[in-house]
Amino acid sequence: MTTMNTPTAADTLNSYNPSTGELVGSVPVTPANQVDAVIATARAALPAWQALSAQERADMLKPAGEKLIEKADELGRILSLEQGKPLAEGVGEVTGCGSRMNDEVDEVAKAVQPDILEDEGVKSTLYYDGYGVCAAITPWNFPALMPHWTIVPALVAGNTVVLKPSEQTPLIADEYVKILNEYLPEGVLQIVHGEDDQGKALVAGDVDMIAFTGSKTAGQHIMAAAAPGLKRLILELGSKDPCIVLEGADLEQAAGFAARNSFRNCGQVCVSTERIYVQDSIKDAFVDKLIEETKQFKVGDCLNEEANIGPMVMKEQKEHVIAQVEDAKSKGAKILFGGNPHDGNFVEPTILDGLTHDMEIMTVETFGPIACIATVKDADEAVALANDTEYGLGAVVYGEDTLARKVGRQLTAGMVGVNRSLGGASGSPWVGARKSGIGYHSGPLGHRQFCQLRVVSTNEE
Ligand code: NAD
Repeated sequence: MTTMNTPTAADTLNSYNPSTGELVGSVPVTPANQVDAVIATARAALPAWQALSAQERADMLKPAGEKLIEKADELGRILSLEQGKPLAEGVGEVTGCGSRMNDEVDEVAKAVQPDILEDEGVKSTLYYDGYGVCAAITPWNFPALMPHWTIVPALVAGNTVVLKPSEQTPLIADEYVKILNEYLPEGVLQIVHGEDDQGKALVAGDVDMIAFTGSKTAGQHIMAAAAPGLKRLILELGSKDPCIVLEGADLEQAAGFAARNSFRNCGQVCVSTERIYVQDSIKDAFVDKLIEETKQFKVGDCLNEEANIGPMVMKEQKEHVIAQVEDAKSKGAKILFGGNPHDGNFVEPTILDGLTHDMEIMTVETFGPIACIATVKDADEAVALANDTEYGLGAVVYGEDTLARKVGRQLTAGMVGVNRSLGGASGSPWVGARKSGIGYHSGPLGHRQFCQLRVVSTNEE
């Protein structure tokens, strides 16, 4: 079984199917010492790009959305083959990027319009200008959506962009960039391929901002590397999201959410439910429903229509998940469902019970299809344990509405769902608290994170 996608020749990055180990395709590696030249091209393209209005930049990207929808079957297949998720999800991810394009670019263009403040005799105009050259560095778990979430606001806000996609999923990123480039001026959007050396060269180069989505560890390195130049940062990092289930919860809904959010994309989602705290009085009823929901998930190759969970993206990721499960079992955790060994990179949906915070699986990001249950006596204990983490991306609470709302405000995550998933109303930013990130993106507030704010004040009669 092939493990990580590593350059096999000095100049080629091969991408393998994590289900079969077969080669899906390859892209040329950008030698790390050529990254500066790519950045120079992005800088040269800046004046003409910034001379356009935000709406002109937005309008330029709209046909790319239509093209993504047109080619969604072809691109979704590439995405699924190299990342592993079921074909319907791969196609859905590409279609989603395309179908939201028009609204998204218009939303960015509107968000970066100047604001005006007026006092007697003075008028201040708050301009939101693109920073300049933006380095976009993205992970493999949503290998079209993560580049899309970063590139689109960065471009419309007036930055030129150099993308360094994950070495695990270079093919879909390459196709995505090619489509956008059918409609963009030369040099405005470029891609560099390789491993973290190319990412490091990009961060060290003459870029003005870095929009990074990935692990906490890489985020820490990037923040340190960006410090001498005081480069602007958006860091969207890992997490250990809790789901609290209290008396008064709609258990059907809570179990449905907990199962879906623990297992979709094989648990390889930044806002996966990684810890479930359930009140002792309702635990048995909740667990019965969670087991029923879990039976709906089947692992298999992305082209197997009966499977709704693919493999782990690589062998190392599977080993990490299994090691955490074994550690928990050795400290007293019990398997309530699943837990059987599988060949290759597959891990089946598994429910563990009896978890405590002295087990690594309750403190270190798992990124695998494991639902971890801990029993609590009341809401206060649930809140204390849910907040006992260095992370803070998402959190969800199910319970009697008044209490659940109160609990929701006590959770230290950036995005909290009360009796629902954490997805916000349209226009909400995607935001991590604590070590899950710095800065944020999406929604009008998020779009402005790609901008330098400038205040110009004039005398007024
Ligand atoms: P990763 O940090 O290993 O890699 C992400 C990208 O950074 C890759 O392109 C990689 O080549 C590059 N990179 C690695 N080290 C670097 C360095 N020192 N300098 C510059 N670039 C570097 O993450 P991954 O394994 O690809 O993705 C999984 C992680 O991403 C998980 O922790 C997950 O929670 C997180 N994630 C977070 C969000 C969010 O919105 N908060 C979304 C998706 C994924």
